[in-house]
Amino acid sequence: MTKITKAYATPAADKKLQLDTIQRREPGEKDVVLDILFCGVCHSDIHTARNEWGGTIYPCVPGHEIVGRVAKVGSKVTRFKKGDKAAVGCLVDSCRKCSSCREDLEQHCEAVPIFTYNSPEKQTGWVTYGGYSENIVVDEDFVLRIPSNLDLAPSAPLLCAGITTYSPLKRFNVKKGQKVGIVGLGGLGHMAVKFANAFGAHVVVFSRSKSKIEDAKKLGAHEVVISTDELSMKKQKNTFDLILDTVSSKHDIDTYLNLLKRSGSMVLVGVPQEPISFGAFSLIFQRHQLAGSLIGGIKETQEMLDFCGKKNIVCDIELINIDQINEAYERILKSDVKYRFVIDMGSLKS
Ligand code: NAP
Ligand code: ZN
Ligand code: ZN
Repeated sequence: MTKITKAYATPAADKKLQLDTIQRREPGEKDVVLDILFCGVCHSDIHTARNEWGGTIYPCVPGHEIVGRVAKVGSKVTRFKKGDKAAVGCLVDSCRKCSSCREDLEQHCEAVPIFTYNSPEKQTGWVTYGGYSENIVVDEDFVLRIPSNLDLAPSAPLLCAGITTYSPLKRFNVKKGQKVGIVGLGGLGHMAVKFANAFGAHVVVFSRSKSKIEDAKKLGAHEVVISTDELSMKKQKNTFDLILDTVSSKHDIDTYLNLLKRSGSMVLVGVPQEPISFGAFSLIFQRHQLAGSLIGGIKETQEMLDFCGKKNIVCDIELINIDQINEAYERILKSDVKYRFVIDMGSLKS
């Protein structure tokens, strides 16, 4: 038995999102059924809906920053009960056996990480559908807890924008005394600023937009550099311990590599559609490192949520109704969002 659920789906790469219905699997004994209250809008939703990375299966229901209330649990679920607040991020399953899974790095599962949307669903072989929908059925091992002191709507983007920036800042051991650059002040970028500041670093935002200077400072940046201003960029040469690049479209990364100190690291989290190129000297002369980072595992995602609970960190959001989603995508593409859209999923019912 399956449940028919309302959702917003895109039927093809060049089509808008529209009201549709999807099937959710009958919950198994380890499954949690979550009624979705809020869902954040990540730039990855747009890349996938528009097939910019290839491999999108249609209809596609994006959304991987999901918070809601538990509606039902299977007989073997131990950590959640009906009525609990709960969350689902970018992953809904993995093989659980490979070395990555055993090291709590399910996002790098060597079989195949099962992403919240556009992945093969393990239990049914169907495709997974994301959070722009009434509810979702997820194995309890991939369901997260939101600290009770945090409001739900601004917590939703922690599930992707939060963990994607927390994880590399932790891995590269960002701390007091370090200078950290954040490139791009969007959904990921604004959370990176909050975390790098909370870890004690001197935080510099690189943005193309002068209109974001004041906001960046309020979010926790100590300096803001307008990336189109060559002189200001030159002044930052060889001064950074770490630069986190969150930019979603093609841009020059040599410029940023040259701002690193000797042995400094640049981490890419943004995923432009086009390949990235850079000059070898940008790495070699000062033995710089270029790395990547993909979301985070379930254990680290819960650690990040608990950290946010302790420090009262949530996202800066603009709440929208689901019928505003196509307009929201256009605004994200113009970098016109402060700093994450979150959909009030109650609007799907009305
Ligand atoms: P977003 O809200 O659109 O933010 C991206 C920011 O990049 C913009 O606000 C803008 O900042 C800057 N930017 C955009 N185009 C640019 C260009 N041509 N040149 C220079 N700067 C530009 O997107 P997001 O949701 O934060 O996601 C960012 C990227 O990360 C996307 O590619 C997304 O798919 C990817 N992502 C990766 C992971 C992962 O696990 N690695 C997880 C989630 C998302 P300014 O206006 O300040 O210049
Ligand atoms: Zn995302
Ligand atoms: Zn695995």
